[in-house]
Amino acid sequence: MGLFTGKGRVHLAGHKDLTMHGEIAQCPVGDTIAIPLVDGTATDFEICVKEGDEVKIGTLLALRKSMYVPLYATVSGVVTGIEKRMHATKRQQNHVIIANNHLDEKVKVIDIKDPDHMTQQDIIEAIKQLGIVGMGGSGFPAYKKYEAVKDIDTIIINGVECEPYITSDYHEMMRQTQALCDGAEYFRKAAQAQRVIIAIKVGKPELYAKLEATAKNYEHITVTQVPDVYPMGWERLLIETLTKRTYDRLPSEAHVIVDNAASAISLSQGIRTGMPVISRLVTVSGNGIKYPTNIDVRVGTPVHEIIEAIGGYVADGEGYVLAGGPMMGRSIMNDRFVISEYMNAITVLKKQEEHTVACLKCGECTLHCPMHLQPVRIMQAEKANDSDLLGKLDVMRCVECGMCSYICPSKIEVTDFVAKGKRRYGLTLRRKKA
Ligand code: SF4
Ligand code: SF4
Repeated sequence: MGLFTGKGRVHLAGHKDLTMHGEIAQCPVGDTIAIPLVDGTATDFEICVKEGDEVKIGTLLALRKSMYVPLYATVSGVVTGIEKRMHATKRQQNHVIIANNHLDEKVKVIDIKDPDHMTQQDIIEAIKQLGIVGMGGSGFPAYKKYEAVKDIDTIIINGVECEPYITSDYHEMMRQTQALCDGAEYFRKAAQAQRVIIAIKVGKPELYAKLEATAKNYEHITVTQVPDVYPMGWERLLIETLTKRTYDRLPSEAHVIVDNAASAISLSQGIRTGMPVISRLVTVSGNGIKYPTNIDVRVGTPVHEIIEAIGGYVADGEGYVLAGGPMMGRSIMNDRFVISEYMNAITVLKKQEEHTVACLKCGECTLHCPMHLQPVRIMQAEKANDSDLLGKLDVMRCVECGMCSYICPSKIEVTDFVAKGKRRYGLTLRRKKA
């Protein structure tokens, strides 16, 4: 094992060449767009429109009840209803359905101000009203990290993209370098931090040179390359690598806030235009896709329309579709779910016969778990329906990074068992509280 590989981190076959060098495609915007009433896994939304309402790009469609999270229309047209549809959470969820009039009429969600004269509060309010979320997959509302901000000295802009196949952040950073640095600077001002570190993985010399050249114009921004190991993009490991600091619950305990590179770009664009995120770059890749590519997609577009637009599957019905990358993505039963602003990739992998054998009790999964859990014991507790033991084994700390499945020589989907264990124990906790 090399210097940066070892316990909790491995070098993965990246398959990034599939989409690293090609042109970026444009996905036609369909006649119907579906905006999911989902934020991460939360679904507590108050709907602000009804069937027959005319909407523009930027019209408020729904607001989350327990925490301020706005959802906006991404096309102009008419609301045709609220429907349950398959979602990337692997469940049927409510969606606002909009018949697109293809006029792209717009309404701003914030007033445009002179960026040089925006106060800390102005910027935090802009992050909130624009609905900026963690666009690397988390979907967490970014303003929550800045609302009660205190003693933050460092903002890390995460452009590491450590999952195999995914290159959307790479391309976004290449084509929006200035917006990335502007967004990073807004985040710095929102936290009154002293510095910003833009982190990318080694082995991207063109991007590194471009970022370095642009960052020279920003007093507080530096660009750093981190090792090509998984899960380097995970914020706990990234903070430890860049600052040598650790924390218990939240990065703010280490005086750090981490934001995704695409989120920084969206913030900059939002402040400049007054508009929320209406489209995003998505990597569509994997050995089940005929022509892997990065494609600009309107939020709310069904995945099957995107895959058709780039030439389809290698063989229909013979791959499985993941919302995200192969390590942390969720396998979805069909391609009818839609793209959300925080979904950076669709990965389609050919089904292959995996010959699972019994657990060898080798301990590799425990050795490599970045959260220092015991995945094999959690798996056994889950199989035994033992909620108490799941709690004792701290199952809720699992970040579902996929490492235990990847590393398992018996080809056991250990992560699936751990994820099921999390759900089981979470349910037990909720029942106890009720
Ligand atoms: S999926 Fe969970 S249990 Fe498995 S290695 Fe990652 S953090 Fe550990
Ligand atoms: S890595 Fe696989 S075989 Fe080894 S202990 Fe974990 S579950 Fe068992």
